[in-house]
Amino acid sequence: MDISNKNTIDIKGKRVTVIGLARSGVAAAKLAQKLGAYVFVSDQSNSNDVIKSFQELQKAGIKGEINGHTETIYTTDLWVISPGVPKDAEIIQQALAKDMPVVSEIEFASWFTTAPILAVTGSNGKTTTVHMLNEMCQSDDIEPILSGNVGNPFSDTIRQDLSKPNPKRVHVLEISSFQMEFIQHFKPFISLFLNLSPDHLNRYEDMDDYVSAKMNMWSNQTQDDFLVFNADDDLLAKRIAPANAKKIPFSLKSDKNVLFKLNATKIYDKEHATLINLDDIALPGKHNLSNYLGAATAATLLGIASSKISDVMKSFCGVPHRLELVGDINGVSYINDSKATNVDAVNVALDSFNSPILLILGGRDKGGDFLSLYPHTHNVKEVLTIGESEEAIATVLGDAVRLRSCGSLMSAVEVAHSNAQPGDIVLLSPGCASFDQFDNFEHRGDVFRELVRGLKEYA
Ligand code: ADP
Repeated sequence: MDISNKNTIDIKGKRVTVIGLARSGVAAAKLAQKLGAYVFVSDQSNSNDVIKSFQELQKAGIKGEINGHTETIYTTDLWVISPGVPKDAEIIQQALAKDMPVVSEIEFASWFTTAPILAVTGSNGKTTTVHMLNEMCQSDDIEPILSGNVGNPFSDTIRQDLSKPNPKRVHVLEISSFQMEFIQHFKPFISLFLNLSPDHLNRYEDMDDYVSAKMNMWSNQTQDDFLVFNADDDLLAKRIAPANAKKIPFSLKSDKNVLFKLNATKIYDKEHATLINLDDIALPGKHNLSNYLGAATAATLLGIASSKISDVMKSFCGVPHRLELVGDINGVSYINDSKATNVDAVNVALDSFNSPILLILGGRDKGGDFLSLYPHTHNVKEVLTIGESEEAIATVLGDAVRLRSCGSLMSAVEVAHSNAQPGDIVLLSPGCASFDQFDNFEHRGDVFRELVRGLKEYA
């Protein structure tokens, strides 16, 4: 199938193979079916979730296989792959060797809309920022919809819009590096790059490989599009330099040519009009200020009024599992930052508070540099470690900070409860993936919330 020209792609009557039956794969299969393709789905797993998804698709008349791939996957016109499938997987390499067009779910969905796309990526802050941006964009003329890596696949929103077209639609997409593999035409009107720090080094060969995947987000942008980027991130600034789009920086520093500047008390625009006083901003932490500046810059380029932007900055209370206050017991604040799955997110969490911190750290190691935590630990009274990475953390941080091995989250919360003094913060900011002890980061955060609730009842 020729997919070289986006405008002439028509999948009606074509055979489409969808690899991977997590949420995005299921959504892509449904979209392809709606567009008249003969869909075949395939997943190597037979987990309960995959079985459920497969049954749902079978009911809708979609054919496929689970618990392994057969040669049928190669009898097709197009491959759509879920972001969960690594690009160096044997089957993908074989499909490429057979010269099959292979595209990601985001690429596939993007073929079927002409609405502007605002795409947000970065190592940290994506979910927080797309929520900010989505709220900022809601206006009389614009009806934004959030999808992508936030748990609501792009293919689903496209399918819904095909049934009920909306001329005011703008797509706000959270984009992970995995979703930018196998991109061909995907072209955001505004791409927003938040930051780059080591992450997912268990899936990518090295940092360069990981960054390169993210950079695909601007690869099709032209002079008519915008690339908003965090100018405080040197690596990022270097890597977006070759892009063709109009580059618009944002920065926490005052020396850059940005739309919104920051001083000790407020954010103001190029005409020196105040956007917002810093005291009126709801979310804590410099990193959130940076996220706000990125979102405000993108929203302004879309024509959103400053008053709307500042209203959102005042009212937006964040997203669960990101520096979320889940309890206050005897003057001790319990904060759930379970989404901090890499070390950089832990650093910004530690920098967000002035009070003494009991830090719960650990889980499945993603190759993070735990030593880089050290300069941020001046408020840390004690590090309580959990999970598989306990030993790795102890090896690099053991001499530098007070460290106690707790094994489980439950035991860490108990230790924190008995050691914390009024005014302290107990911070779950694990810096690791959750899969050694939990289903996912949400599960880990929910367990933490429940444990804290239990302490409250007991207190
Ligand atoms: P993502 O979707 O990129 O994982 P989230 O908004 O879910 O980002 O936040 C993930 C973690 O990163 C949280 O612990 C949050 O506090 C932290 N974080 C948010 N914004 C930033 C930022 N700009 N820089 C570093 N860490 C951040």
